[in-house]
Amino acid sequence: QGLPPALAGQVARRQASFGASSVLFFEQPIDMVRAEGAYLYDDAGRRYLDVYNNVPSVGHCHPRVVEAIARQAGQLNIHTRYLNQVVDAYAEDLLSRFPAPLSNVVMTCTGSESNDLAMRIARIVTGAEGFIVTEAAYHGNTALVTEISPSSLRKRKPAPFVAVVPAPQARDGLDVAEGFAASVENAIAELQARGIGTAALIVDTIFSSDGVFADPPGFLQMAAALVHRAGGLLIADEVQPGFGRTGGGLWGFERHGITPDIVTMGKPMGNGFPMGGVVTRPDFLKQFCEETGYFNTFGGNPVAAAAGHAVLKVLDEEGLIDRSRAVGDYFRRSLQALMAEHAEIGAVRGAGLFIGLDFIAPATGHPDTAIATWVINQLRQKGILIGAAGKYGATLKIRPPLCFSKADVDVFAGALADCLKAR
Ligand code: PMP
Repeated sequence: QGLPPALAGQVARRQASFGASSVLFFEQPIDMVRAEGAYLYDDAGRRYLDVYNNVPSVGHCHPRVVEAIARQAGQLNIHTRYLNQVVDAYAEDLLSRFPAPLSNVVMTCTGSESNDLAMRIARIVTGAEGFIVTEAAYHGNTALVTEISPSSLRKRKPAPFVAVVPAPQARDGLDVAEGFAASVENAIAELQARGIGTAALIVDTIFSSDGVFADPPGFLQMAAALVHRAGGLLIADEVQPGFGRTGGGLWGFERHGITPDIVTMGKPMGNGFPMGGVVTRPDFLKQFCEETGYFNTFGGNPVAAAAGHAVLKVLDEEGLIDRSRAVGDYFRRSLQALMAEHAEIGAVRGAGLFIGLDFIAPATGHPDTAIATWVINQLRQKGILIGAAGKYGATLKIRPPLCFSKADVDVFAGALADCLKAR
């Protein structure tokens, strides 16, 4: 592929072990060695500004989280069958950040496991089998969750127990809330016509894989009410928007003024330590556990709890939710200013430090995947890491660590402007 010989050798080595499952970013993949704050460093010591990674959410290798993991790993690192006060203190702190009646948590190791468990709980509580999802959603990689992840189903349609709705957008004279509710209403009827009831509507509350749809706050209320009326639950997948990223509270659902029946978490929960969780009502969890039981060897072990608790403390002490809102507002304004100068930018959307930027072909207004791919690879050459999302892969998915600064925004916006001028 025209790679420098040493890099070609490294890529071949990776592929020899991982085969077709190896997915690497960029035409010229990077051998990453270390990271700090909002920056990563490659094997040659070159620095990259991270505008993409939401796992190390409070900053790469945050010393407080690193110290908590190391200390606990040196003290007790075991499964979850013993009492342990580190674990209990974390669960209490986490649950104190949820509205009533969401007062029980199940700890897992990934977002996928969390959504898998949420689906199983929803089925048992409602007695229904069907799920409603958005058309480019990704909710994880288990057999069950893959069925509600249309973006993963390359060669076939979703299973009959899944009804797919478009990403929330104003259309046909309907505003965003009405349009999304109308689609959900159709989906409920569709499932019913197939003889399958609605167990739940599951949404990533910022619709990241669909291309980032955040506004207007509250637009989920109508759809949630319809699902409840049909006897179904609302599952809020907070794997991407959770832990302060949207700048409007800790959870994406807060911006919508709704209380979900089940909330799932992952990615930023341990700032890179693999952990996830499901928060729900005690009566739902009781009914589920009476029916099937549930055990997770690693979920919420003492080291995970130490990592997760450190993340919550850093979010508080460094005021990262407010920072996400302030820097995110500045970021969107900078990108909107660029949009006024460059016809290839079709829209800028988002909340806090979660922003989607659409590339379009100026002549037609259609999504332009080629520009997005080109820009991503150009920025990589300039030492900036960014990626794409959306049905067409034409939306830049902008979600840097929450320690991102206004100066970092200026670096990104300047580099993007340079790319577009050079086209
Ligand atoms: N839900 C959403 C919204 C996600 O983006 C992802 C991962 N990209 C998952 C769930 C699955 O999480 P994990 O990869 O930790 O299993």
